[in-house]
Amino acid sequence: MIILAPPRHRKPMTHLIERLPPVRGEYRVDASIAQLTWFRVGGPAEVLFRPADEADLIDFLAGRPGDVPVTVLGVGSNTLIRDGGIPGVVIRLGKAFASAMVDGERIMAGAGALDVTVAATAQRAGLTGLEFLSGIPGTIGGGLRMNAGAYGSEIRDVLISARAIDPLGHVHTLAPADMGLSYRHCGVPEEWIFTSAVFQARTGDSATIAQAMTDIRDAREDTQPRRVRTGGSTFANPEGRKAWQLIDAAGCRGLRIGDAQVSEKHCNFLLNIGDATAEDIESLGEEVRRRVRESSGITLRWEIRRIGQAKADSGGAA
Ligand SMILES: Cc1cc2nc3c(=O)[nH]c(=O)nc-3n(C[C@H](O)[C@H](O)[C@H](O)COP(=O)(O)OP(=O)(O)OC[C@H]3O[C@@H](n4cnc5c(N)ncnc54)[C@H](O)[C@@H]3O)c2cc1C
Repeated sequence: MIILAPPRHRKPMTHLIERLPPVRGEYRVDASIAQLTWFRVGGPAEVLFRPADEADLIDFLAGRPGDVPVTVLGVGSNTLIRDGGIPGVVIRLGKAFASAMVDGERIMAGAGALDVTVAATAQRAGLTGLEFLSGIPGTIGGGLRMNAGAYGSEIRDVLISARAIDPLGHVHTLAPADMGLSYRHCGVPEEWIFTSAVFQARTGDSATIAQAMTDIRDAREDTQPRRVRTGGSTFANPEGRKAWQLIDAAGCRGLRIGDAQVSEKHCNFLLNIGDATAEDIESLGEEVRRRVRESSGITLRWEIRRIGQAKADSGGAA
């Protein structure tokens, strides 16, 4: 199905859609995607594609012209989309990728499943080891790409295998050892799209697991800004240091550019407190990096993924 944006939003004759293969899912042209991210900022996707299922995704990748860039988005809890939008096709995995099922002490999850859904599925089955996922507000696909983690556990500790589709539409089953997983990093080529994963849990007590998940939620309420437009931790912790402490020591707590602000509560979080643009948020992040470098000599690494084009120029993809 092809859905065209109203004429006033339509780009003048890009014709990209005419070059894309037929699919069973949905194409949207010049699609607004800011609302698909936590920051709620950024320009449109030239085309947004929601595959009907994995076979549809494979057919799309195998059939698309090789020069068309493809970007996959989870629920955008770690992503800043630049104001000029994303050229090419943005893929969003929908319901067909959102299941979580128990098989003995294993959990099979689609890449579009929320981490919290996977944690809750394990808890209901009396399986322990995946509680940490309940505090991470992303999808399994985003979690694999970021090797997401919290409270001393990360994806690689519980992963048995991940299934991914390469840019030609070939399916790969990957073991953690093949994936180059390290702190907030995954070595699988950026263009590969995860479609599902299998996780190892252990038999435990449902009530104890539920309590651990409640404790995680309470700890987050205490230490992190909630119900705000943010991308979570902006910068990765440098070896042996805490990014928030370096940012605090550099005097950046509460710093603002436009409606972008360094959180007062947790200063490794950047917030959109009103009508911030992606440029405001990215500039604020760069200013924080500059001040931290000046005060400590340490260059912070962006953990948040910045994707797409700046408004003023047509380059700048990260
Ligand atoms: C309030 C808050 C708290 C957070 N706390 C934590 C935390 O404790 N620990 C932590 O690790 N992170 C945390 N994060 C960051 C974020 O939730 C994680 O990085 C999460 O794993 C991102 O998942 P997502 O679906 O939102 O990915 P997105 O932000 O949509 O995408 C992130 C990256 O993953 C890629 N990606 C997404 N889906 C796929 C796929 N199917 N195949 C291949 N690549 C894919 C995207 O292209 C992008 O590069 C937090 C964020 C917020 C807003």
